[in-house]
Amino acid sequence: MLKELLAYVRPYRRILILGGLLGLIGSVAGLAMPLLAKYVVDAFGAGGSMAGPLLGLTVAVLIGAVVSASGSYLMERTGEGIVLGARRRLVDRMLRLKVADVDRLKPGDLLSRVTGDTTLLRAVLTNGIVESVGAAFMLVGAIVMMATMDAVLLLVTLGVIVVVGGIVAMIMPRIQRAQAQAQEAVGEMGSVLDRALQAYRTVKASGAEEREIAVVGEAAARARDRGLQVAVWTSLAGVSTWVSLQIAFLAVLAVGGARVSSGALEVSSLIAFLLYLFYLVAPIGQLVQGGVQLQQGLAAMQRIKEIEALPAEPAEPAEPSEPAEPAAEPAERTGDGGVPVGVTFQDVVFRYGEDRPLVHDGVTFEVPPGGLTALVGPSGAGKSTVFGLIERFYEHQGGTITVGGRDIRDWPLGELRAALGYVEQDAPVLAGTLRENLLFAARDVTEDELNRAIARTRLDDLVSRLPEGLETPVGHRGVLLSGGERQRVAIARALLRRPRLLLLDEATSQLDAVNELRLREVIAEVARETTVLVIAHRLSTVTGADRIVVMEAGGVRAVGTHAELVGEDDLYRELAATQFLVG
Ligand code: ADP
Repeated sequence: MLKELLAYVRPYRRILILGGLLGLIGSVAGLAMPLLAKYVVDAFGAGGSMAGPLLGLTVAVLIGAVVSASGSYLMERTGEGIVLGARRRLVDRMLRLKVADVDRLKPGDLLSRVTGDTTLLRAVLTNGIVESVGAAFMLVGAIVMMATMDAVLLLVTLGVIVVVGGIVAMIMPRIQRAQAQAQEAVGEMGSVLDRALQAYRTVKASGAEEREIAVVGEAAARARDRGLQVAVWTSLAGVSTWVSLQIAFLAVLAVGGARVSSGALEVSSLIAFLLYLFYLVAPIGQLVQGGVQLQQGLAAMQRIKEIEALPAEPAEPAEPSEPAEPAAEPAERTGDGGVPVGVTFQDVVFRYGEDRPLVHDGVTFEVPPGGLTALVGPSGAGKSTVFGLIERFYEHQGGTITVGGRDIRDWPLGELRAALGYVEQDAPVLAGTLRENLLFAARDVTEDELNRAIARTRLDDLVSRLPEGLETPVGHRGVLLSGGERQRVAIARALLRRPRLLLLDEATSQLDAVNELRLREVIAEVARETTVLVIAHRLSTVTGADRIVVMEAGGVRAVGTHAELVGEDDLYRELAATQFLVG
């Protein structure tokens, strides 16, 4: 663990050593000050010119100040660099994790790891290390000097140092544990607060403010308690060091006194030895402090490593094989969208976790390239999961899924997702301007293409109505837009990616007649150019579909057109009568 911790410092070791040296030189310059002052006073007494000595003193002060300031600046800079590196690596990993892993993690806790835990690394890795190294040198130096004076007294002193070391070594793991728990509690506080902020309106509407405040407060109190525990152990380490040194002082005094009276030791040596013993107090205290910081750093690193240890999504297929048909070649980024691709599911078996029930139990269906295919079925049938598997947010455990005739496991992940447009059910809109939202999935589109997508998704009304047009901020999660607008923004965003297959999870919520009509037009128009697979919740969508796949309890029950299915399939007829009333 220590080695891993030091790995953060390695790229900065030269600048760190330089910073430490400058700090040292600064202190030495400080030590020279009284001496220089003496020259000034001497010159004054001798009645000579004071200009020379005063100038010398001034220069020394300036040099000392500049050197010390540069040293501490370099240290801080190193600290910031280390924090920046740790944050970048952590965020890089976080955004590349597998969706299945992220489902288990709490966003607030992740946030606290990036903001809080990385900060803890700074103290230990800069001042902690430099001061400890300096202190260790001073300690060794003092011990060597002691050794030249009296071996017996040295043994007494070393005995005490070993005892101090033992006590501190016993306390250190406890500090680390308490610190880890403190950081955990901070993470918990973050995740509880995040929960409340994410469902802000629900919290208010439920009158749950007091309760949520209490829950966040409890997590904060837990962090305080653990912090206090750290403080207790730290003070204990400090006080036991102090007491041990006092005992050493008394023991050296007693043993040394006896040796002086027996003539084995000179009084002057005893006095010098005792002075060195006092001199030891500062470096030992610094070493203990460095040890405490080290434990805090280790606790923080543990939480950072927990995330870094999670696997990232594989960017490339395990064993690339030849595409089965030419249509699977990378989309041409010319024209409006690449060649439409089809999708097949063949006996697909999937569960979200080892201990979870099967969500797909032999799902088989085919979506030919182009046209509109609707997925329908009761809630929980596994429709959204179909999308999750096509996007490879999750890996299916059995059967085969192909996109464009090519097994999705053979597609490089980035290429596969570039071929797909995906509109989630809640049609998420991110904080930022409308333009930023539209360009989120495709940064390099021209103004022309942007306007065309806006027109196709019937967003031109909205854009002309907004005070600053495309540059209008849409609020956190797009709260300033209506549900239907959010959905069409999400569709426009997906279309700008020129998808070869559009996955559209229709909102279950009611749309007004105007928005409903617009949505139908948009879907029909897009389906003329590319493959559209839609999880349908409204009659207008299914009646316009070229084919409908009826899913039930993790399987495909029937496939056909609306007219066929109404005649043939009981479940579909029931769905059409109840679920699709929104049409
Ligand atoms: P549908 O879209 O047809 O309503 P879903 O595909 O969303 O159905 O869900 C099918 C089943 O899988 C449900 O029982 C649901 O609880 C479960 N499920 C969905 N998403 C997850 C997930 N991320 N983790 C665990 N279980 C999930």
